[in-house]
Amino acid sequence: VVQSKPTVVRQLPLLLDGRAPARDIEAALVPRIEAFSRASGRPPTLAVLLVGGDPLAERHAQLKVNAGARLGIRTEIVALDGNSSTADVLVRIVRLNRDPRVDGVFLQHPVPPQVDERACFDTVAVSKDVGGDGTLSLGRLALGDPGFVATTAAGILRLLSAYGVEVASRSALVIGRSPMVGKPVALLLLQAHATVTVCHSRSGGLPALVGKSELVVAAVGKPHFVKADWIAEGAVVIDAGYHPGGMGDVDPRATERASALTPVPGGVGPMTRAMLLGNVVAAAESAG
Ligand code: NAP
Repeated sequence: VVQSKPTVVRQLPLLLDGRAPARDIEAALVPRIEAFSRASGRPPTLAVLLVGGDPLAERHAQLKVNAGARLGIRTEIVALDGNSSTADVLVRIVRLNRDPRVDGVFLQHPVPPQVDERACFDTVAVSKDVGGDGTLSLGRLALGDPGFVATTAAGILRLLSAYGVEVASRSALVIGRSPMVGKPVALLLLQAHATVTVCHSRSGGLPALVGKSELVVAAVGKPHFVKADWIAEGAVVIDAGYHPGGMGDVDPRATERASALTPVPGGVGPMTRAMLLGNVVAAAESAG
Protein backbone atom coordinates (compact mmCIF):
# COMPACT_ATOMS: atom_id res chain seq x y z
CA VAL A 1 0.00 0.00 0.00
CA VAL A 2 1.44 3.29 -1.05
CA GLN A 3 0.73 5.98 1.50
CA SER A 4 0.71 9.45 0.07
CA LYS A 5 2.09 12.21 2.22
CA PRO A 6 -0.55 14.64 3.47
CA THR A 7 -0.35 17.82 1.46
CA VAL A 8 0.10 20.93 3.54
CA VAL A 9 -1.81 23.71 1.86
CA ARG A 10 -0.48 27.06 2.91
CA GLN A 11 -2.86 29.95 2.63
CA LEU A 12 -1.61 32.88 0.64
CA PRO A 13 -0.91 35.88 2.84
CA LEU A 14 -3.30 38.80 2.96
CA LEU A 15 -1.96 41.58 0.76
CA LEU A 16 -2.16 44.86 2.64
CA ASP A 17 -2.69 46.91 -0.52
CA GLY A 18 -2.64 50.59 0.33
CA ARG A 19 -4.27 51.80 -2.88
CA ALA A 20 -7.88 50.91 -2.06
CA PRO A 21 -7.97 52.37 1.50
CA ALA A 22 -6.07 55.45 0.25
CA ARG A 23 -8.74 55.95 -2.43
CA ASP A 24 -11.47 55.71 0.24
CA ILE A 25 -9.71 58.26 2.45
CA GLU A 26 -9.24 60.60 -0.51
CA ALA A 27 -12.86 60.20 -1.64
CA ALA A 28 -14.00 61.24 1.84
CA LEU A 29 -11.90 64.41 1.53
CA VAL A 30 -13.62 65.59 -1.68
CA PRO A 31 -16.79 67.08 -0.10
CA ARG A 32 -14.62 68.86 2.51
CA ILE A 33 -12.36 70.24 -0.24
CA GLU A 34 -15.41 71.43 -2.20
CA ALA A 35 -16.96 73.06 0.87
CA PHE A 36 -13.68 74.81 1.73
CA SER A 37 -13.17 76.00 -1.85
CA ARG A 38 -16.77 77.33 -2.04
CA ALA A 39 -16.52 79.16 1.26
CA SER A 40 -13.06 80.67 0.78
CA GLY A 41 -12.95 81.14 -2.99
CA ARG A 42 -9.70 79.17 -3.31
CA PRO A 43 -8.70 75.51 -3.09
CA PRO A 44 -6.76 74.08 -0.14
CA THR A 45 -3.13 74.64 -1.04
CA LEU A 46 0.04 72.69 -0.36
CA ALA A 47 3.55 73.99 -1.03
CA VAL A 48 6.17 71.27 -1.56
CA LEU A 49 9.72 72.52 -1.18
CA LEU A 50 12.09 70.61 -3.40
CA VAL A 51 15.75 71.40 -2.87
CA GLY A 52 18.08 70.11 -5.60
CA GLY A 53 17.38 67.50 -8.23
CA ASP A 54 17.31 64.20 -6.35
CA PRO A 55 15.31 62.02 -8.80
CA LEU A 56 13.46 60.11 -6.05
CA ALA A 57 12.54 63.35 -4.25
CA GLU A 58 11.32 64.80 -7.56
CA ARG A 59 9.20 61.72 -8.20
CA HIS A 60 7.66 61.84 -4.72
CA ALA A 61 6.91 65.56 -5.13
CA GLN A 62 5.24 64.91 -8.50
CA LEU A 63 3.13 62.09 -7.05
CA LYS A 64 1.88 64.58 -4.43
CA VAL A 65 0.98 67.11 -7.14
CA ASN A 66 -0.92 64.45 -9.10
CA ALA A 67 -2.77 63.10 -6.06
CA GLY A 68 -3.73 66.63 -4.96
CA ALA A 69 -4.92 67.58 -8.46
CA ARG A 70 -7.25 64.55 -8.59
CA LEU A 71 -9.04 65.85 -5.49
CA GLY A 72 -9.01 69.62 -6.04
CA ILE A 73 -6.04 70.46 -3.81
CA ARG A 74 -3.64 72.94 -5.39
CA THR A 75 -0.05 71.78 -4.99
CA GLU A 76 2.74 74.13 -5.80
CA ILE A 77 6.29 72.81 -6.13
CA VAL A 78 8.75 75.39 -4.83
CA ALA A 79 11.99 74.27 -6.47
CA LEU A 80 15.25 75.52 -4.99
CA ASP A 81 18.69 75.12 -6.48
CA GLY A 82 20.82 72.20 -5.28
CA ASN A 83 23.47 74.68 -4.07
CA SER A 84 21.00 76.43 -1.75
CA SER A 85 22.15 77.04 1.80
CA THR A 86 20.11 76.38 4.92
CA ALA A 87 19.44 80.15 5.12
CA ASP A 88 18.07 80.15 1.53
CA VAL A 89 15.62 77.39 2.39
CA LEU A 90 14.61 79.00 5.70
CA VAL A 91 13.80 82.28 3.94
CA ARG A 92 11.43 80.45 1.58
CA ILE A 93 9.81 78.58 4.43
CA VAL A 94 9.20 81.80 6.39
CA ARG A 95 7.65 83.35 3.28
CA LEU A 96 5.34 80.35 2.86
CA ASN A 97 4.46 80.45 6.58
CA ARG A 98 3.28 84.04 6.10
CA ASP A 99 1.38 83.41 2.86
CA PRO A 100 -2.33 83.20 3.73
CA ARG A 101 -3.05 81.30 0.50
CA VAL A 102 -0.79 78.42 1.55
CA ASP A 103 -2.26 75.95 4.06
CA GLY A 104 0.48 73.35 4.25
CA VAL A 105 4.26 73.50 3.83
CA PHE A 106 6.08 70.25 3.16
CA LEU A 107 9.83 69.88 2.80
CA GLN A 108 10.57 66.96 0.49
CA HIS A 109 13.21 64.61 1.94
CA PRO A 110 16.10 64.26 1.19
CA VAL A 111 17.73 67.68 0.93
CA PRO A 112 21.35 68.23 -0.15
CA PRO A 113 23.93 67.61 2.62
CA GLN A 114 24.77 71.29 3.21
CA VAL A 115 21.15 71.99 4.20
CA ASP A 116 20.22 71.50 7.87
CA GLU A 117 17.03 69.49 7.36
CA ARG A 118 16.03 69.60 11.04
CA ALA A 119 16.30 73.42 11.13
CA CYS A 120 14.08 73.53 8.03
CA PHE A 121 11.46 71.16 9.47
CA ASP A 122 11.42 73.21 12.67
CA THR A 123 10.91 76.50 10.84
CA VAL A 124 7.65 75.33 9.25
CA ALA A 125 4.81 76.87 11.28
CA VAL A 126 3.23 74.14 13.40
CA SER A 127 -0.20 75.04 11.94
CA LYS A 128 1.19 74.30 8.45
CA ASP A 129 3.38 71.30 9.37
CA VAL A 130 1.29 68.86 7.33
CA GLY A 131 4.16 66.35 7.11
CA GLY A 132 4.24 66.19 10.92
CA ASP A 133 8.05 66.36 10.79
CA GLY A 134 8.67 69.34 13.07
CA THR A 135 9.95 68.88 16.60
CA LEU A 136 6.76 70.35 18.06
CA SER A 137 4.54 67.99 16.06
CA LEU A 138 6.72 65.01 17.07
CA GLY A 139 6.62 66.10 20.70
CA ARG A 140 2.84 66.32 20.59
CA LEU A 141 2.72 62.85 19.08
CA ALA A 142 5.00 61.53 21.85
CA LEU A 143 2.63 62.96 24.47
CA GLY A 144 -0.51 61.80 22.65
CA ASP A 145 -1.64 65.42 22.16
CA PRO A 146 -3.54 66.54 19.04
CA GLY A 147 -1.42 67.73 16.11
CA PHE A 148 -0.21 66.66 12.69
CA VAL A 149 1.16 63.12 12.81
CA ALA A 150 4.14 62.08 10.66
CA THR A 151 2.43 60.86 7.52
CA THR A 152 4.19 57.53 6.87
CA ALA A 153 3.61 56.42 10.45
CA ALA A 154 -0.03 57.56 10.37
CA GLY A 155 -0.48 55.79 7.02
CA ILE A 156 0.87 52.52 8.41
CA LEU A 157 -1.54 52.55 11.37
CA ARG A 158 -4.49 53.43 9.09
CA LEU A 159 -3.51 50.62 6.74
CA LEU A 160 -3.49 48.10 9.60
CA SER A 161 -6.87 49.26 10.81
CA ALA A 162 -8.31 49.27 7.25
CA TYR A 163 -7.53 45.53 7.03
CA GLY A 164 -8.68 44.81 10.58
CA VAL A 165 -5.18 43.81 11.74
CA GLU A 166 -5.18 43.70 15.54
CA VAL A 167 -2.34 45.68 17.11
CA ALA A 168 -3.23 45.82 20.80
CA SER A 169 -1.22 43.42 22.98
CA ARG A 170 0.87 42.21 20.05
CA SER A 171 4.64 42.19 20.00
CA ALA A 172 5.76 44.74 17.42
CA LEU A 173 9.29 45.28 16.16
CA VAL A 174 10.20 48.51 14.39
CA ILE A 175 13.48 48.33 12.48
CA GLY A 176 14.75 51.91 12.18
CA ARG A 177 14.61 54.86 14.56
CA SER A 178 14.57 57.87 12.25
CA PRO A 179 12.46 60.86 13.31
CA MET A 180 10.55 60.61 10.01
CA VAL A 181 9.49 56.97 10.11
CA GLY A 182 10.85 54.65 12.83
CA LYS A 183 10.25 56.77 15.92
CA PRO A 184 6.76 58.03 15.02
CA VAL A 185 5.59 54.57 13.99
CA ALA A 186 6.89 53.15 17.28
CA LEU A 187 5.01 55.87 19.19
CA LEU A 188 1.77 55.18 17.33
CA LEU A 189 2.06 51.43 17.88
CA LEU A 190 2.61 52.12 21.56
CA GLN A 191 -0.50 54.32 21.62
CA ALA A 192 -2.36 51.45 19.97
CA HIS A 193 -1.26 49.23 22.90
CA ALA A 194 1.30 47.07 21.11
CA THR A 195 4.41 45.95 23.00
CA VAL A 196 7.04 47.75 20.99
CA THR A 197 10.73 47.07 20.42
CA VAL A 198 12.76 49.47 18.29
CA CYS A 199 16.04 48.44 16.70
CA HIS A 200 18.72 50.30 14.83
CA SER A 201 22.17 49.89 13.30
CA ARG A 202 23.75 49.00 16.68
CA SER A 203 21.17 46.37 17.65
CA GLY A 204 22.54 42.88 17.92
CA GLY A 205 20.65 39.68 17.19
CA LEU A 206 18.23 41.19 14.73
CA PRO A 207 17.15 37.86 13.14
CA ALA A 208 16.11 36.50 16.55
CA LEU A 209 14.25 39.71 17.43
CA VAL A 210 12.37 39.57 14.13
CA GLY A 211 11.67 35.87 14.69
CA LYS A 212 9.75 36.48 17.90
CA SER A 213 7.70 39.44 16.69
CA GLU A 214 4.08 39.21 15.63
CA LEU A 215 4.26 42.50 13.74
CA VAL A 216 7.37 43.77 11.95
CA VAL A 217 7.73 47.27 10.51
CA ALA A 218 10.82 47.65 8.32
CA ALA A 219 12.04 51.24 7.93
CA VAL A 220 15.73 50.59 7.38
CA GLY A 221 16.35 52.20 4.02
CA LYS A 222 18.28 49.18 2.69
CA PRO A 223 16.83 47.10 -0.15
CA HIS A 224 15.71 43.59 0.86
CA PHE A 225 17.50 43.95 4.20
CA VAL A 226 15.01 41.88 6.22
CA LYS A 227 15.41 38.25 5.21
CA ALA A 228 12.39 36.03 4.68
CA ASP A 229 13.70 33.28 6.98
CA TRP A 230 13.96 35.72 9.93
CA ILE A 231 10.19 36.22 9.92
CA ALA A 232 8.00 34.21 12.27
CA GLU A 233 5.38 32.02 10.63
CA GLY A 234 2.15 34.05 10.53
CA ALA A 235 3.68 37.45 11.32
CA VAL A 236 2.33 40.69 9.85
CA VAL A 237 4.99 42.53 7.85
CA ILE A 238 4.91 46.22 6.94
CA ASP A 239 7.56 47.35 4.49
CA ALA A 240 8.03 51.13 4.57
CA GLY A 241 11.06 50.96 2.30
CA TYR A 242 11.07 52.24 -1.22
CA HIS A 243 14.08 52.07 -3.49
CA PRO A 244 14.70 52.62 -7.20
CA GLY A 245 13.41 49.63 -9.12
CA GLY A 246 10.49 49.24 -6.73
CA MET A 247 12.42 47.30 -4.08
CA GLY A 248 11.36 47.45 -0.45
CA ASP A 249 13.32 46.85 2.76
CA VAL A 250 11.99 43.28 3.03
CA ASP A 251 12.91 40.23 0.94
CA PRO A 252 9.83 39.51 -1.23
CA ARG A 253 10.01 35.82 -0.25
CA ALA A 254 8.53 36.95 3.08
CA THR A 255 5.20 36.02 1.43
CA GLU A 256 6.16 32.41 2.21
CA ARG A 257 5.93 33.04 5.99
CA ALA A 258 3.88 36.16 6.69
CA SER A 259 0.12 36.05 7.28
CA ALA A 260 -0.22 39.57 5.89
CA LEU A 261 2.19 41.95 4.23
CA THR A 262 2.39 45.16 2.25
CA PRO A 263 3.26 45.16 -1.44
CA VAL A 264 6.05 47.46 -2.65
CA PRO A 265 5.07 49.66 -4.37
CA GLY A 266 1.39 50.15 -3.54
CA GLY A 267 1.47 49.49 0.20
CA VAL A 268 2.65 52.24 2.52
CA GLY A 269 3.29 54.90 -0.17
CA PRO A 270 -0.33 55.61 -1.21
CA MET A 271 -1.39 55.72 2.46
CA THR A 272 1.37 58.24 3.23
CA ARG A 273 0.10 60.52 0.46
CA ALA A 274 -3.51 60.18 1.60
CA MET A 275 -2.48 61.17 5.15
CA LEU A 276 -0.63 64.22 3.81
CA LEU A 277 -3.62 65.35 1.74
CA GLY A 278 -5.91 64.85 4.75
CA ASN A 279 -3.59 67.05 6.81
CA VAL A 280 -3.66 69.77 4.12
CA VAL A 281 -7.46 69.79 4.21
CA ALA A 282 -7.47 69.91 8.02
CA ALA A 283 -4.93 72.76 7.99
CA ALA A 284 -7.05 74.70 5.48
CA GLU A 285 -10.22 74.16 7.51
CA SER A 286 -8.63 75.31 10.73
CA ALA A 287 -7.08 78.37 9.07
CA GLY A 288 -10.65 79.21 7.94
P1 NAP B 1 16.96 56.65 7.60
O1 NAP B 1 16.78 58.02 8.12
O2 NAP B 1 18.13 56.31 6.79
O3 NAP B 1 16.89 55.67 8.85
C1 NAP B 1 17.20 54.31 8.73
C2 NAP B 1 17.15 53.65 10.07
O4 NAP B 1 17.49 52.28 9.89
C3 NAP B 1 18.11 54.25 11.10
O5 NAP B 1 17.49 54.41 12.35
C4 NAP B 1 19.23 53.22 11.16
O6 NAP B 1 19.83 53.08 12.45
C5 NAP B 1 18.49 51.94 10.86
N1 NAP B 1 19.42 50.93 10.34
C6 NAP B 1 20.38 51.10 9.40
N2 NAP B 1 21.07 49.96 9.25
C7 NAP B 1 20.56 49.07 10.12
C8 NAP B 1 20.88 47.73 10.45
N3 NAP B 1 21.89 47.09 9.85
N4 NAP B 1 20.14 47.11 11.39
C9 NAP B 1 19.12 47.76 12.01
N5 NAP B 1 18.77 49.05 11.74
C10 NAP B 1 19.49 49.69 10.80
O7 NAP B 1 15.68 56.21 6.71
P2 NAP B 1 14.14 56.67 6.86
O8 NAP B 1 13.95 58.05 6.34
O9 NAP B 1 13.62 56.32 8.19
O10 NAP B 1 13.49 55.71 5.79
C11 NAP B 1 13.44 54.32 5.99
C12 NAP B 1 12.84 53.68 4.75
O11 NAP B 1 11.51 54.15 4.61
C13 NAP B 1 13.56 54.06 3.45
O12 NAP B 1 13.58 52.93 2.60
C14 NAP B 1 12.71 55.15 2.85
O13 NAP B 1 12.77 55.16 1.43
C15 NAP B 1 11.35 54.71 3.31
N6 NAP B 1 10.36 55.77 3.40
C16 NAP B 1 9.18 55.46 2.87
C17 NAP B 1 8.16 56.36 2.91
C18 NAP B 1 6.86 55.93 2.34
O14 NAP B 1 5.92 56.73 2.24
N7 NAP B 1 6.72 54.66 1.96
C19 NAP B 1 8.34 57.61 3.49
C20 NAP B 1 9.57 57.92 4.05
C21 NAP B 1 10.56 56.95 3.99
P3 NAP B 1 20.70 54.25 13.15
O15 NAP B 1 19.69 55.20 13.72
O16 NAP B 1 21.48 53.54 14.18
O17 NAP B 1 21.53 54.85 12.06
